[in-house]
Amino acid sequence: MNDERRAGRNPELAGTWLVDLDGVVWLAGEPIDRVGEAVARLRERGVRVVFATNNSAPTVDELVARMRRAEIAVTPADLLTSAQAAASLVSRGDRVLALADGGAREALVERGAELVENGPVDAVVVGWTHEFTFDRLAQAATAVREGARLIGTNEDPTHPTPRGLLPGAGALLVSVEAASGQQAEVAGKPHRPMIELVTARCGEVAAVVGDRPSTDGLLAGRLGAPFALVLSGVTAPGDRPDPAPDVVAGDLFELVAQLTDAKGA
Ligand SMILES: [Mg+2]
Repeated sequence: MNDERRAGRNPELAGTWLVDLDGVVWLAGEPIDRVGEAVARLRERGVRVVFATNNSAPTVDELVARMRRAEIAVTPADLLTSAQAAASLVSRGDRVLALADGGAREALVERGAELVENGPVDAVVVGWTHEFTFDRLAQAATAVREGARLIGTNEDPTHPTPRGLLPGAGALLVSVEAASGQQAEVAGKPHRPMIELVTARCGEVAAVVGDRPSTDGLLAGRLGAPFALVLSGVTAPGDRPDPAPDVVAGDLFELVAQLTDAKGA
């Protein structure tokens, strides 16, 4: 671990940091210890903190309210979601069948898409939802087989909660892929639609902080930014993260403390 850390680039305590939500700020909405203090310390040092989540279920208002409970003040401009990335793939007026909860539906409506349950469908959007039934799966797969585009908000296989892992949107998406015979275009981290949203909103990124190497770590690599892995989510201390992170910490607070200590501050 020490060799890996020495080989990595320590993130600068400057510029824009892109920080994940699930497993970094909270677990199923329950704030992770001292996360508000960690963000406050970053902001004191002039770091702009932008939060990027692959979770497409909450609406922007719900995210802002959850952040407030974690003692982090944000505006919608500080939040990027896989729901917004997925919506960027459809056009105004497109007829969209959404197998997804509020956040994805909100982003699609803001984009000018029409949410439909019947009739011709231009695109099927699959996100995280509790309303995933055999009938909804059949409806989505049929629409795709009849020519609709298949778009996934993200492909995270699991979702971290304080009581362990739940199925993620990726687990739902693969069943639509299997039933329709089509591979989905995926919008969230580490894929191009999210990269384009990040670049448009933030320009250059000084660090990506996340708990999942296959999304947060790959995104960091594609943005040319150091990847700071935190062990407060889906990655356990004994795991061998791929890609290897530049720096590892127990949680966001420890990461910030580690970096400020390294600077002798
Ligand atoms: Mg995460």
